[in-house]
Amino acid sequence: MLRRALVKISGEALGTRGLAGESISLLVSQITEATALGVQIGIVLGGGNILRGRDLDLPAVRRPIRDRMGMLATVVNALAAADSLIAAGQSAVVLTATPMPGVAEHFRMETAREHLEGGKVVFLAGGTGHPYFTTDTAAALRALEIGADALLKATKVDGVYSADPVDNEDAVRYDALSYDQVLEQKLGVMDLTAITLCRENHLPVYVFDMRVPGNLARMLCGEPIGTRISGDAMRRDRPSDRVPS
Ligand code: UDP
Repeated sequence: MLRRALVKISGEALGTRGLAGESISLLVSQITEATALGVQIGIVLGGGNILRGRDLDLPAVRRPIRDRMGMLATVVNALAAADSLIAAGQSAVVLTATPMPGVAEHFRMETAREHLEGGKVVFLAGGTGHPYFTTDTAAALRALEIGADALLKATKVDGVYSADPVDNEDAVRYDALSYDQVLEQKLGVMDLTAITLCRENHLPVYVFDMRVPGNLARMLCGEPIGTRISGDAMRRDRPSDRVPS
C-alpha cells in the first residue's frame, strides 16, 4: 500500500461544463474510500470544466491572463470538492500556489506535509502559479514536494493505449511503460514537462480510469487496473509493493 499519493484529476471529473453535484459526490466517495485505507492523499484538480487558458476564445485577452483565469478555475474546483468532502465527514484543506488570503491557505511544502500527516486530504490548487503550465505539471511538481510515493493520473480510459481506443479498435493497452517509451512514442499521457519531471525524479505514474466506482481504492491496493509508467517497463510491481518510507 502507498503511504502517500498525489492524485491528478481533470476538471471534467467535476462536471462537463461547470460543476455538477452528482459528479462531485462520485469523487467524494472515491476519495473517502481511499483515505479509509490509511493512505495520505494530495489532490491536484484541473480546471477544464470551467476554462482552459489556451482554448479560451478571447483574442483580446493575453495568454498569461487567460492562464490566470484557468488557475482560478482550479481553485473554484478545489473549494467545491474540499467542502463536499468536509460535509461527508472527511477533513480536507485547500492550499493555493498564489496567496489568496480569505479564500484558502497559501501552499508551502511543510504546511502541506503537516496537513497530510494530520489526516487531511490536501487540495493543491492554483496550478503551479505560473502561466504556460498545466495541472499535469503542477501534479508532478507537488507530488515531488510533498514526497508522494506515486502520481496517480485519473483519466477517462483504463490506462495508456497504443492509439486512441475510441477511434481505433486495434489499439493495445499497456500494463507497464517506461518514461522513454511514453516520450518516444508520443503517447500523450501527460505533457512533456510533466513526464520529464517524473522521469528525472524517478516518480512512478499510474494511469487509470477513476470514473469506475472503487477504482481509486483498487489502484491503491495494488490491483492491476491501469498502466504503470516508471524507469523500467518490465517491472510489474504495483503501488502495494512499495515499502512505506
Ligand atoms: N494553468 C496554468 N498554469 C498551471 C496550471 C494550469 O496557467 O500551472 C491554467 C491553464 O490555463 C490551464 C487551466 O489552468 O488550461 C486549467 O488547467 P488544465 O488545462 O491542466 O485542466 P484540466 O484539463 O486537467 O481540467
